[in-house]
Amino acid sequence: MVARVIPVEPFDLVIFGGTGDLARRKILPGLFRRFLSGQMPEDSRIIGAARSDIDSAGYRVMIKEAIAEFGGEEKSETKAIAKFLDRLEYVPVDARGEGGWSELAALVRSDVIRAFYFSVGPGLFGDLAERLHSYKIADRDSRIVVEKPFGRDLASAQELNETLAEHFKEDQIYRIDHYLGKETVQNLMAVRFGNVLFEPLWNNHYVDHIQITVAETVDVGGRGAYYDKSGAMRDMVQNHLMQLLCLIAMEPPSQFGADAVRDEKLKVIRALEPVEPHHIVRGQYEAGEDSKSYREHAENPRSFTESFIAMKCHISNWRWAGVPFYMRTGKAMSERVSEITVVFKDLGHSIFEEDDKRHRNILSIRLQPNEGMDLQVTIKEPGPGGMRLIDVPLDMTFAEALGDEAEDVPDAYERLIMDVIRGNQTLFMRGDEVEAAWKWTDPIIQGWEARNDVPKTYEPGSSGPEDAMLLIHRDGRKWREIKG
Ligand code: NAD
Repeated sequence: MVARVIPVEPFDLVIFGGTGDLARRKILPGLFRRFLSGQMPEDSRIIGAARSDIDSAGYRVMIKEAIAEFGGEEKSETKAIAKFLDRLEYVPVDARGEGGWSELAALVRSDVIRAFYFSVGPGLFGDLAERLHSYKIADRDSRIVVEKPFGRDLASAQELNETLAEHFKEDQIYRIDHYLGKETVQNLMAVRFGNVLFEPLWNNHYVDHIQITVAETVDVGGRGAYYDKSGAMRDMVQNHLMQLLCLIAMEPPSQFGADAVRDEKLKVIRALEPVEPHHIVRGQYEAGEDSKSYREHAENPRSFTESFIAMKCHISNWRWAGVPFYMRTGKAMSERVSEITVVFKDLGHSIFEEDDKRHRNILSIRLQPNEGMDLQVTIKEPGPGGMRLIDVPLDMTFAEALGDEAEDVPDAYERLIMDVIRGNQTLFMRGDEVEAAWKWTDPIIQGWEARNDVPKTYEPGSSGPEDAMLLIHRDGRKWREIKG
């Protein structure tokens, strides 16, 4: 059985920055896969709009190459590619000037859903919003999609929100965090709120602590100069890790609707306690045998920007009082892994005399690689010799449980773009959420800047600086092994 596909309404999707890296690597190959699955109606179109001076034919060639490079196995389906490319148009547009806007206005239809993907730097958001309005290309029903980074602090995020609000209402603005589009992230909500088993245990009576790890093997490479202005806190924690934290910690919403879910996420962010400086470890990777150090990549020998961060946080509410949330993320680490782990408390008393180990139930939710979940449970070790216990995983990996149905699961970008067309904002960040997240991270970053905080070094291909281990060891706990 293949995953059920419900076609969306016909649409015109304009991708500003349609020739850029994100459009070629993620957005267009993702749209192609949705086209293949039958989700894109016959008369829907994708219109690339960017600075490059090419025509629609040139754009189709560019996107054909992009699909061949980044589209995965579908590259052999030449007939399907040709049909998909027929849906593509291109208009050279200058976001800051008037060039191309009248042509775009003539092309975009008013009797279909209109969506505008701002796949450009945030410095252009205001110009695009203004011109979409003045050229009457967008109306009250149109949607805009904006990419991270959404600001670099509270003040700039507020400014961006105000700029967009001049021409678009909040229910038209889709702030993408692609982590929210992952199948497992939604499954986390299904598991929490669709089963009787988990929710009664989901609190400080039964949960010892929670870990969130997003480890990347890649270093900052050629993006060093850009990354150096941001660092792991702005690039990963303020958005992706905090969103995961919200989903794991939020109260059950009254229904699975956009505002009900986002209201609950916002409450989590607002309940986050300020983090003590000694509960944060920042790191920078050193040079490897044949790889450059962070500072060499950043081309800044005195850079204090972190390429790794580990922190211990607390949420001040009844459910989570006293439960530490350990988060870490970094570049140039040993494996590429994104995982949330809920470690339950151990039993206060064991009736099995032969067994002297501490056994724990551990629920791990794997976002990548191999999306899935497993629950560690304790059973009897098979065979004679008394009641010795072992811990085994109850594997809930979707690919095995669901067979073919799991194969056609859309990736995060595909799913989120289709949600935009459907008008479903549940998996997008609301403006007040983004601002609340900056409000929590700003004082932390300002503290480092005021103290000239120097990150600890770590070896590339490791699990981060030694101090990150101590951060959790001091509490008598340990990080989950980073295993790909
Ligand atoms: P890019 O530099 O590869 O592409 C930028 C695009 O914007 C190009 O198509 C260019 O023609 C267009 N553009 C630039 N100035 C313009 C102007 N004045 N008028 C019209 N078009 C103009 O950038 P990218 O990597 O594709 O990233 C786009 C946005 O997405 C950025 O905000 C980035 O931070 C964000 N983002 C990118 C990635 C990624 O993987 N590349 C991931 C997450 C977020």
